Amino acid sequence: MNDPRYRRVLIKLSGESLLGNEAYGIDPKVTSRLARELGELVARGVQVALVIGGGNIFRGAGLAAAGMDRVTGDHMGMLATVMNALALQDALERAGVFSRVMSAIKINQVCEDYIRRRAIRHLEKGRVVIFAAGTGNPFFTTDSAASLRAVEINADIMLKATKVDGVYSADPVKDPAAVRYRRLTYDEVIERKLNVMDATAIVMCRDQNMPIMVFDITREGGLVGAVEGRDIGTVVERG
Ligand code: UDP
Repeated sequence: MNDPRYRRVLIKLSGESLLGNEAYGIDPKVTSRLARELGELVARGVQVALVIGGGNIFRGAGLAAAGMDRVTGDHMGMLATVMNALALQDALERAGVFSRVMSAIKINQVCEDYIRRRAIRHLEKGRVVIFAAGTGNPFFTTDSAASLRAVEINADIMLKATKVDGVYSADPVKDPAAVRYRRLTYDEVIERKLNVMDATAIVMCRDQNMPIMVFDITREGGLVGAVEGRDIGTVVERG
């Protein structure tokens, strides 16, 4: 095993990454595996924060397309992220890893409110901090919340967990000639409309010089490899 390259990381997990083999909701096998891998990082001295999405349960845009008021739909989407955060916290605690859920909307009989200084204190004490409810505002995504929190807590890098091992020149499923980019600049991602995160999130990372690594979380050991800084994904950084 190599030494961790990063001291403090912010991991963005989509809600869909909790689906596993389920069509809806949360697969407990996935949360257990994630808890084990996150515990491994903590045991190696890495400070771990997570932002979790809610797309496995509700997305505001989808609810709006079905006729619901968009802001109400976004409130439901943010509450979905709280449910995912609680499920992950439960799996972490069963794996013997201390954690705290901090929500951007007040729901403090269920979890803590987000307070930046307190979040940093938890990290320093070796607790995994799960940021829930996105930014707390409608019309944003949890990708934007992830870039915001990564900057706020002075993370060394934002690790964007996906189902593919990086950003490709074309869809690798459809085009066998597609190649994985090892490194991209923020402007290349924006100009070529590459599917890394939404534009708000990328611009925030660019303006605050927060590097991003896109990596495959579904592969066993993918998370540890990303934190060791191995060449297993795509890094987006300044040119
Ligand atoms: N959401 C929001 N504001 C935020 C973050 C999320 O309103 O700051 C809502 C929005 O409706 C979004 C849903 O929560 O669709 C779930 O988040 P997201 O779609 O980012 O989840 P993911 O795609 O990562 O699973």
